[in-house]
Amino acid sequence: MNLLDGKLVSAKIKEDIKIEAAQFTAQAGRKPHLVAILVGNDGGSETYVASKMRNCELVGFESTNIRYDVDITEAELIEKINEINQDPTIDGLIVQLPLPKHIDPDKITEAIDHRKDVDGFHPINLGRMQRNLPCFIPATPYGIMLMLEYYGIETAGKKAVVVGRSNIVGSPMSILLARNSQPGNCTVTLTHSRTANLKEEVLSGDIVVAAIGRKNFVTAEMVKEGAIVIDVGINREDSTETKSGFKLYGDVDFEAVAKKASWITPVPGGVGLMTIVGLLKNTLEAAKGAIYAK
Ligand code: NDP
Repeated sequence: MNLLDGKLVSAKIKEDIKIEAAQFTAQAGRKPHLVAILVGNDGGSETYVASKMRNCELVGFESTNIRYDVDITEAELIEKINEINQDPTIDGLIVQLPLPKHIDPDKITEAIDHRKDVDGFHPINLGRMQRNLPCFIPATPYGIMLMLEYYGIETAGKKAVVVGRSNIVGSPMSILLARNSQPGNCTVTLTHSRTANLKEEVLSGDIVVAAIGRKNFVTAEMVKEGAIVIDVGINREDSTETKSGFKLYGDVDFEAVAKKASWITPVPGGVGLMTIVGLLKNTLEAAKGAIYAK
């Protein structure tokens, strides 16, 4: 078994981003700038946004965290998004999900200017991704592709099974793996809670991407000998063993599956760190006008 080491790869790519950010700052007279809007005080969301902000600082970006109480109206939020869309000193905008029930996440996603949509959730970016055109790719699948690329893993002709079809992970992952690119050129099966014979489907995968949200869902008997296993899941459980008071578990039973896999990502230390890298790369590309001209 070989480890797909998110710690190592993310550190290396962040070094490159830092150099490019310094070049941008020297030329533009300002740093690449990411704004993150956080509504309410969901514990997980707070941790993710704090980590995104911290990583921006680390690579030399400016970052702004705008916080709203849980009772902000949809109209007020859209008004703020419109204001940011017009601001030439802001390159990227993300609105942390989930949002409170009275706010429609689709409306919010579509309100963001697709040229600043560094989460890659806007339908224009999703459509362009499907057509293999330059676009912002959702950060988690982007990070996974960067990791496969870093390790030079040949994916062409392989059968990939993605478990989970969310708009932010599973669905875009299935599109990227099927595209005519390297990594890519896989024959992809996208599975979900209504899939018949899920175990047999996963067993047929040379590459398995688990994005379900259930601790240790993918067991050793579901995985083919020699498979490449990517664990996206982040499942938090209270723990007295850690300083933070919780412990993270993936969607894959790591100990058992690692014995069969040729490559596997750990949790923590795998996909989560690469997601941040995906976001940072998108923000840098937005600042440089590399995807959409400024
Ligand atoms: P969602 O809850 O949006 O989607 C989960 C998917 O899993 C759905 O498509 C669902 O199917 C499917 N699913 C649920 N139960 C089963 C089952 N028993 N059998 C087969 N499929 C099932 O989750 P996300 O995609 O947003 O996230 C998935 C996991 O990844 C979570 O643990 C999340 O915390 C983590 N995550 C990690 C990130 C990182 O940076 N590492 C980033 C984003 C998410 P259906 O559509 O039929 O309901």
